[in-house]
Amino acid sequence: MSDDLRVTELSAGRENGRARYVLYWMQVYKRAAHNHALDFAVRAANERGLPVVVYEGLKYYYPWANDRLHTFILEGVAEKREEFARRGIRYVFYLQRHARDPRHTVARLARAAALVVTDDFPSFIVPEHNRHITEQVSVPVYAVDSNGVVPLRAFEKEEYAARTIRPKIRRLLPEHLKPSRGVAVKRRAPHLEVDCPETLVTGANVAALVAECDIDHAVKPSPIYRGGTSAGRARLRRFVKNILPRYDETRNEPSVDGTSRLSPYLHFGFLSALEVALAVERADAPRGAKDAYLEELIVRRELAYNFARFNPDHDSLDSLPAWAKKTMREHAADARPALLTPEQIEGAETYDELWDATQRELVRTGEIHNYVRMLWGKRVIEWRPTYEDSFRLLEHLNNKYALDGRNPNSYAGILWCFGKHDRAWGPERDVFGKLRFMSSQAMARKFDARRYVEWTKSLPAPLAN
Ligand SMILES: Cc1cc2nc3c(=O)[nH]c(=O)nc-3n(C[C@H](O)[C@H](O)[C@H](O)COP(=O)(O)OP(=O)(O)OC[C@H]3O[C@@H](n4cnc5c(N)ncnc54)[C@H](O)[C@@H]3O)c2cc1C
Repeated sequence: MSDDLRVTELSAGRENGRARYVLYWMQVYKRAAHNHALDFAVRAANERGLPVVVYEGLKYYYPWANDRLHTFILEGVAEKREEFARRGIRYVFYLQRHARDPRHTVARLARAAALVVTDDFPSFIVPEHNRHITEQVSVPVYAVDSNGVVPLRAFEKEEYAARTIRPKIRRLLPEHLKPSRGVAVKRRAPHLEVDCPETLVTGANVAALVAECDIDHAVKPSPIYRGGTSAGRARLRRFVKNILPRYDETRNEPSVDGTSRLSPYLHFGFLSALEVALAVERADAPRGAKDAYLEELIVRRELAYNFARFNPDHDSLDSLPAWAKKTMREHAADARPALLTPEQIEGAETYDELWDATQRELVRTGEIHNYVRMLWGKRVIEWRPTYEDSFRLLEHLNNKYALDGRNPNSYAGILWCFGKHDRAWGPERDVFGKLRFMSSQAMARKFDARRYVEWTKSLPAPLAN
């Protein structure tokens, strides 16, 4: 059963002979389609003549839990309930609001399960969850990788850079860039009784539920992005029809709507990279534009996931290549002439107008345009006393405000600013050493920076508490 490259047996366990269902614990692939973990659970249930229970929980105490992230996740719940009911699958959603609410719900549900299937996401809290669950349940537990177009296990080690993973991905794509049909359940049981608390989420009660949670209420929901697979698909359709044909030109112009803006939907698994890649392949757009997009969606994204999978230090400066560590050691004592406090940086109150605009976009919308996100990361290196300080502040801001944060891309992107997946550059400079340097002045000459800055000022500011 586990010779599929996407499937890992986390613990062998003993199957429960009196099981009532197969349990799929949905952690990050928050979707009913193009989901290899769900398909695996349905096949396992069909083989045993059992129904499927899908469990999705949202707790109040994950790092950076706030109104923005909770709202985005909850907006995707009601449509999943309908979709799973239509497919004959029992879907249980439970919002754990505060310390007084019941815990250990997965273990409780697992008692009546033949086996447990869950998501194999290589970053944030999921690896720890997956270690923990095997200690709590006695039935077999499988983790299934539905992260990218190519399975993570198709690569044997950490890849050095895009240029090393690209040819391998190209070779593997014909085998993997194919529609996955989904598997129909044989034993329908959409209303099966289960031993687990449940929360009814409707279109109308999301804000009220979020208000009850013991989380950071200062980070407001995004005024632009709405959570859920249908919102993601609407954006995908719009992107493919109106933006993709000129993506290779418009992607570098933050003052227009010229990229896909799909990363929040990919991060929360509302859309699968496979579905997006296939929509792009089928689109009526020039080959050059499609290739430019697929380079980002597949090569860059899967390089980041490969990094997270194989490098246990992927959330720290320890994961940098030797040349980057050496140049940072050599420049650690360089004077930082324009130090800023974390509050000035977080509040977009620096002396750099373009940088402030990127931070304003992040705080107000939950995203930074792809083209200026590099500048956003690079500049903070100069503003804090140590590289470690800069890195931790970037991690904090990105994971707190960005809808697509807490992802392998977050770490690969931030660490790229410190040399990961990059090469040494000259001339050697103060503070940056051989790290690639970026200035706001040079960046501002490459696009309509004035228009971008004004646009970020026109965005609705978060409401005061
Ligand atoms: C400092 C810094 C922090 C970043 N933090 C994140 C993050 O938290 N989450 C995140 O998803 N991406 C992050 N990135 C990568 C990239 O900036 C975003 O994926 C991109 O801005 C998302 O916008 P989009 O969907 O419009 O991208 P598009 O240009 O439409 O690209 C399509 C998709 O390709 C993927 N992609 C694009 N660029 C990259 C890249 N450089 N590396 C990996 N995948 C990429 C994303 O999934 C994206 O949705 C970061 C980059 C930097 C430099």
